[in-house]
Amino acid sequence: MTMRPILIHPDPRLKKVCAPVGDISAELRKLADDMLQTMYEAPGIGLAAPQVGELKRLIVMDCVKDKDAAPQPMALFNPEVTWTSDEMNVYEEGCLSIPEQYADVERPAEVRVKWTDVDGKEHEEQFDGLWATCVQHEIDHLNGKLFIDYLGPLKRQMITRKMVKLKKERARASA
Ligand SMILES: [Zn+2]
Repeated sequence: MTMRPILIHPDPRLKKVCAPVGDISAELRKLADDMLQTMYEAPGIGLAAPQVGELKRLIVMDCVKDKDAAPQPMALFNPEVTWTSDEMNVYEEGCLSIPEQYADVERPAEVRVKWTDVDGKEHEEQFDGLWATCVQHEIDHLNGKLFIDYLGPLKRQMITRKMVKLKKERARASA
C-alpha cells in the first residue's frame, strides 16, 4: 500500500463531478487500499478519491470510534443515496482537505446507500449516526461539494483564506 498526498482546498480537482467506475480492476482495488491507509494515517474517518486527485466515484470510511473495537474499513464504488430520512441531525464536521477547521452541518439523520464493493458485489444498506453523516460528506466530494459549501459565504471565505495561507506556508516549508 502507498500513502497518497491529500489535496488541500482550494483546488480545482475538489470541485469536479467524478466519473463512475466500471469493472473493479486490480488498479481500483489498489487505489481503495491506498486510500484506506492514507485515511487511517491522517487520521480520519472518511476519504473520497478526488481528495487524492483521482476523479473517480470511490469513497472509503471507517467510523468506529472506540479504539478497542475492531476496525470496519469500507470501500464504496459508485455510491448512491437511494433514500433519506425526514429527521435531520447536526454534526460538527471536518475534512482532511480542510485541516483543523470544523463547523456544524445539518444533514438527514439516516440514509440508504447502494454501492459496489471491491469484489464487484452490489450492496444496499442503511446508515445512521456518524456513519450517515460521513457517507453523505464523502458522496458530496464526488459531486465537487465540500462541507463548507453548507456554511454562509462569510464563514466559507474565512476558512478558504486560511487554507490559501496554509498552502503557501507548506509550499515554503517544502521549497
Ligand atoms: Zn471531506
